[in-house]
Amino acid sequence: MIAERLAEIRSQIPEQVQLVAVSKFHPVESVREAYEAGQRLFGENRAQELAEKAPQLPEDIQWHFIGTLQRNKVKYIVPYVSLIESVDSEALLQEIVKQANRFDRQLRILLQYKIAQEESKSGLDHTELLALVDHYLATPEWRERITICGLMGMATLTADKEQIRHEFDTLRALQTELRERYPEISWDELSMGMSSDWPLAVEAGSTIVRIGTAIFGERQY
Ligand SMILES: *Cc1c(COP(=O)(O)O)cnc(C)c1O
Repeated sequence: MIAERLAEIRSQIPEQVQLVAVSKFHPVESVREAYEAGQRLFGENRAQELAEKAPQLPEDIQWHFIGTLQRNKVKYIVPYVSLIESVDSEALLQEIVKQANRFDRQLRILLQYKIAQEESKSGLDHTELLALVDHYLATPEWRERITICGLMGMATLTADKEQIRHEFDTLRALQTELRERYPEISWDELSMGMSSDWPLAVEAGSTIVRIGTAIFGERQY
């Protein structure tokens, strides 16, 4: 079942777009099933769940952290993640640097920008984002450990396709703006699109889609 769904989605996604299989709340066996079908990139949104699963699974899996990350949990994920997609504050970035030093790791991150209308969705606003990037560029110890690779955003959960499209276009436009403003950073990655809205995200220029339910089925919370 998982293999079929993966194959179906892969056949519809352009080759240059990376597919993150979001395995949160699904057991290790489901991850293994996807792995056996060729999937190597997975996403989790809870630190302890990632830290529990990763050691039980093959080492050539790449893990993206995609959820709200509390500072005191950063230490659990830094040994395992290849990319943290959900950096939404300077304080969090500072802690990621600290733990990257401690575990002697180089890490890639995305900055999460708030495009949704919903209060519950997190992310930086425009002013915060520029302040964070200025601080990053002025802090050599941060730049040595951490590479900013682009932006992540979550659209509003709505049936209104025009609104979703508009929100994805906003993230794409921000990428263009940041490329001009900070040419020393590569803003190439644009992580947007989930089970319900990834076709719109791909049309809008997404380079990473994060898909859970459409691969693994409904989550049992
Ligand atoms: C859970 C989650 C997803 C995947 O959601 P689905 O609707 O199951 O595809 C994508 N991105 C983030 C940040 C998530 O937390």
